[in-house]
Amino acid sequence: MIQPEVDPWGFDEQPVETLADVLAPQAPDLMALALFLAFAYVSFRRKSVRLKYLALVLAVGYMGFTKSTLISITDVFRLVDRDLPVFRSALVWYAFAGFTLVSTVLWGRFYCGRVCAFGALTQLTDAVLPSRWRVEVPRAIERRAAWIKFAVLAGVLAYYAATHNVLVYRYVEPFWMFTLVGTTPMWIGLGVLLVATAFVRNLYCRFLCPLGATLGIISNLTMFRIKRWSECQTCRICQKACGWGAIDGPKILVTECVRCDDCERLYADQQKCPHWRILDYRATKKVLPLRPV
Ligand code: SF4
Ligand code: SF4
Repeated sequence: MIQPEVDPWGFDEQPVETLADVLAPQAPDLMALALFLAFAYVSFRRKSVRLKYLALVLAVGYMGFTKSTLISITDVFRLVDRDLPVFRSALVWYAFAGFTLVSTVLWGRFYCGRVCAFGALTQLTDAVLPSRWRVEVPRAIERRAAWIKFAVLAGVLAYYAATHNVLVYRYVEPFWMFTLVGTTPMWIGLGVLLVATAFVRNLYCRFLCPLGATLGIISNLTMFRIKRWSECQTCRICQKACGWGAIDGPKILVTECVRCDDCERLYADQQKCPHWRILDYRATKKVLPLRPV
């Protein structure tokens, strides 16, 4: 007589995890993330100032203080180590990191301009503080200072490669502030940074952030870039309006541009952008229209 197979480890009794079991606990966060990212994208496509500031408020309130969900230099460490989280239990992380990467290849530092809670906080601060407080950084200094963030990125990656100390992120990123957990020196450093940001627009993002530097490097692949007119060579209205030092004459510096829309709204404004008036003039004189460069 054939004996029934014995299952000494009790595997047959183990419940099998279904897709529903994996999704159910993560579904609310996944849905909320998808809604937020969709809203940020719509605000970007519509070039609406009101929707943009609403997206920034959501970034600070929901992504920052409610969920503390930010992409960080620690995620770059993970990629370097190829030590990624288990897919089924980290769907939100994969969705968020995937969106950040894909959006950067498509539009550049869209993440910095609309999704990152700290960048959103400094943009909101910039919008409410009196503009007479602003200190304009001379162009030559600004260009050189923009390289600091790449040096910070190289330094922190070298330090991590040598020590594998993930906690180094606390010295180069202020994102921990959204958890409201930090030591006294960390809060003092953050206070100094925020006060300095009141005078120099987007100081941390422009000059210091190693994640911004990483996304800036990836932005060299950007597929959908901002159009420019041949008049941009001499006009420079957009260059003065850009709060990120990302315009140099007719050129957009993709490593610095965060797709904030400010120049694109100017560019489309037929009252403010000289391109349209020149176009009108040429049309009345029956001269061929100018084309984007
Ligand atoms: S530069 Fe850094 S802090 Fe600023 S928005 Fe980008 S990732 Fe955030
Ligand atoms: S103003 Fe234009 S160039 Fe400057 S960051 Fe915004 S979108 Fe980029």
